[in-house]
Amino acid sequence: MIPHADRLIDKFGRIHNNLRISVTDRCNIRCVYCMPEVVDFLPRQELLTFEEIERFVQVATTLGIDKIRLTGGEPLVRRGVPTLVEKIATIPGIVDVGLTTNGILLAPMAEALWDAGLRRINVSLDTMDPAKFLELTRRTGFEQVIEGILAAKEAGFDPVKVNAVAIKGMSEADVVPLGQFAREHGLELRFIEYMPLDAGNLWERGKVLFAAEILDLLAEGIGPLSPAPDQDPRAPAVDYDYDDGGGRVGLIASVSRPFCMSCNRVRLTADGKLRNCLFALDETDIRALMRGGQPDSEIARALRESVAGKWEGHQINTARFIKPERLMHSIGG
Ligand code: SAM
Repeated sequence: MIPHADRLIDKFGRIHNNLRISVTDRCNIRCVYCMPEVVDFLPRQELLTFEEIERFVQVATTLGIDKIRLTGGEPLVRRGVPTLVEKIATIPGIVDVGLTTNGILLAPMAEALWDAGLRRINVSLDTMDPAKFLELTRRTGFEQVIEGILAAKEAGFDPVKVNAVAIKGMSEADVVPLGQFAREHGLELRFIEYMPLDAGNLWERGKVLFAAEILDLLAEGIGPLSPAPDQDPRAPAVDYDYDDGGGRVGLIASVSRPFCMSCNRVRLTADGKLRNCLFALDETDIRALMRGGQPDSEIARALRESVAGKWEGHQINTARFIKPERLMHSIGG
């Protein structure tokens, strides 16, 4: 039990127990809303090593971090991710390890990830149409993603969550087919409102397909839904259950219904920069502290200071919004 005084609490009283770690900025697809075709990826020596990540997590657990999610870039393109999962899952104090993946490399790895101690998996998939998949991701791989999702189920992950980005004028036709696929296979489908972290400044408010519109499409195309009874008020997704008992859909309304006031997250980029918000403009250089020979107490102090300095919330809906320089793939979505 971590004494309250030692916990990561910001000036708005938010307690942070959730750390998202990007293991690489590389990706094997090029989603048009996420990253450009040509990217200067980080050289290997700039990435935190697994040992450095493990050390950071150990320090973070002393301040109450108990939930970890690995992400990227595409986490599964980094060699040895099951080894990293195992290292993290066995750190005392860690109760939950998850991973967010595009699913392309998942099928052959699902079992190894489960065996390593991974228990939560989110697979990103925006469409059930292979031609549209190619258009959106600028790569092939639709079949591998479907295989990956089914392999994850087979390995024991329950639920497997499927995340789709919702962009107006683009995603409407995909909502119902994704809903049907999720119902057929017992998957938990979640839609994420399009956020201004894209390559090429394409984002504008008019391009966000709002959660309420998605619910209408699902209700019309599949059947009525009602708010889930057992909501976690701190969770980013607001859940709805089909009235016929056919499963659950989550809506992550980051733009139309920001959940900043219940945010419990910090993020570590693949090059070891700590970010206290997805949209943060400042970062804390954890890698420099580690490679500069600083003791754990200094790393803990840096983490505590970063959380203490967290702002009230992102400003997407105001004229004050400043888009961070880093794109989604290099932050870790
Ligand atoms: N490669 C992994 C994947 O595809 O899940 C992990 C990283 S990816 C950046 C994490 C999630 O961020 C994906 O579900 C992706 O669709 C989402 N994403 C990327 N750019 C986004 C944007 N501009 N707005 C909303 N979600 C975005």
